[in-house]
Amino acid sequence: MAGQFPDWMRRKVIYTADLPRTRELLKDLSVHTVCQGARCPNLSECFSRRTATFMILGDTCTRGCRFCAVTKGTPAAVDEAEPARVAEAACRLGLKHVVITSVTRDDLPDGGANQFVRTMQAIRQRLPGATVEVLTPDFGGNRAAIRQVAEAAPEVYNHNVETVPRLYPTVRPQAHYQRSLQLLQLVKEQDPGILTKSGLMVGLGETREEVLGVMEDLRKVACDLLTIGQYLRPSHRHLAVQEYVTPETYAYYRRMGQSMGFQQVAAGPYVRSSYQADQLIK
Ligand code: SF4
Ligand code: SF4
Repeated sequence: MAGQFPDWMRRKVIYTADLPRTRELLKDLSVHTVCQGARCPNLSECFSRRTATFMILGDTCTRGCRFCAVTKGTPAAVDEAEPARVAEAACRLGLKHVVITSVTRDDLPDGGANQFVRTMQAIRQRLPGATVEVLTPDFGGNRAAIRQVAEAAPEVYNHNVETVPRLYPTVRPQAHYQRSLQLLQLVKEQDPGILTKSGLMVGLGETREEVLGVMEDLRKVACDLLTIGQYLRPSHRHLAVQEYVTPETYAYYRRMGQSMGFQQVAAGPYVRSSYQADQLIK
């Protein structure tokens, strides 16, 4: 287990008057965010800057990843009005780059792919100038579902591998490393114009060599963008932090990623999959 919280993890909390306003706006529209659902450590900064990552298909996930704070259980029926509310929230926040993610819906035949498409359409109607990034689950490897989302041509298709393959059984027991790589490959093959993106958490007991191995695997499927950030335990019921990864190691991953051919690598203690997502496509 990791020792004390190191100095490099300490930072000034960013808080502006827009934080409560963003929270209210989302509440008024009954729109869920992964920022709140996953208890993201960047929430006060992102909400203060009037950015958020929308979480569609409800707030309850059918899987139980051991690092994730999102509620697990039996989800409610798909809300037909959700896409319009998300688009309204994106519009009121004035987003130029809209990131949409979802809980995993293994209970739905299409895994929720149709709701992703409808949400993208609603956003494009309300915000024609905005770019769209989807951060999808693996859809249980359902190729038709993955294709359906890719056909809607998001500017960025993000799917996280989350950790190194050795740790899958403890970290994401219902996922498969190869299945996640295949998803990214399928998207790229279908539409090479879509930027593909993936991310992983570090500090779960992986080695540097294992992280480099994942990075190489991602480049083999032509993944363009990469995020790497420190795992932080959302509660005592979740996996313990094994290590606080140092700034030097993040710098090393950034250098290695650039030499491997990633277009952008964001790596740092508080980097999250959707953190400053607009910056990665500039
Ligand atoms: Fe959290 Fe996604 Fe895992 Fe569900 S599938 S528990 S939302 S990480
Ligand atoms: Fe939300 Fe992403 Fe910011 Fe976290 S990093 S608060 S998930 S937008």
